[in-house]
Amino acid sequence: MNRVQWLMNLRAVDYEWDDKGRRYQTVRTLLADSSEHDKLSTHHEKVQQNLSTTRAKLHDSELELATLQIKYKEVTKSLYSGHVLNPRDLDNLQKESTSLKSRLEHLENDTLALMSETEELEEQLKESEVVLRAFENTWAVEQVNLTQESNALRSRLHELQEQRDRLRGALGRADLALYDELRAKKGGNAMTQMVANSCQTCHVSVPSRKAYLVEAGEDIVLCEGCGRILYVA
Ligand SMILES: [Zn+2]
Repeated sequence: MNRVQWLMNLRAVDYEWDDKGRRYQTVRTLLADSSEHDKLSTHHEKVQQNLSTTRAKLHDSELELATLQIKYKEVTKSLYSGHVLNPRDLDNLQKESTSLKSRLEHLENDTLALMSETEELEEQLKESEVVLRAFENTWAVEQVNLTQESNALRSRLHELQEQRDRLRGALGRADLALYDELRAKKGGNAMTQMVANSCQTCHVSVPSRKAYLVEAGEDIVLCEGCGRILYVA
């Protein structure tokens, strides 16, 4: 294998390393991200809390209503019993009966409103439960798949690291330094293919003497346009 071929092998490994490394980071981020689940779960809990508060209010309202109904019945009974004869007492009873009736009407309306609010919240809770469980099922499958992918990527990255170390060990220090410098400067791509004496990256022509050296592969020849190491496939 000539110098350029060694560099091409290193480049293939570096490409895969970059690509798989990026994907590995993405997979790790996805695995750690529970924001969507947190959002759905928080919403579900909020509806649950609202429902239990509304149920408690409804319960109190129903108790109060029952108490008032008994009181109203008693007052009405006394009023029409014929036992109370004093006009002032009768007047007071009449006033109390009217006041109780008005309070009863208000309370009945409030109780009805709380009943329909409770029903609405029960519906909301069912819906959010369905959404949350569906998400959790999909999420569980996704987590398994992502964990498998993460493990496969980690083991492949480990292999690539070893290959990389081997290739770098076989290459000369100057060639490596040039390759690393170009890789850093040229967006991760230190090399460019030459086809019919033309650079395939910047399309600048390669002079025929240089093109001959590129074909031979024993020398490192840089493109006069983009400065990358030229190779033939
Ligand atoms: Zn070029």
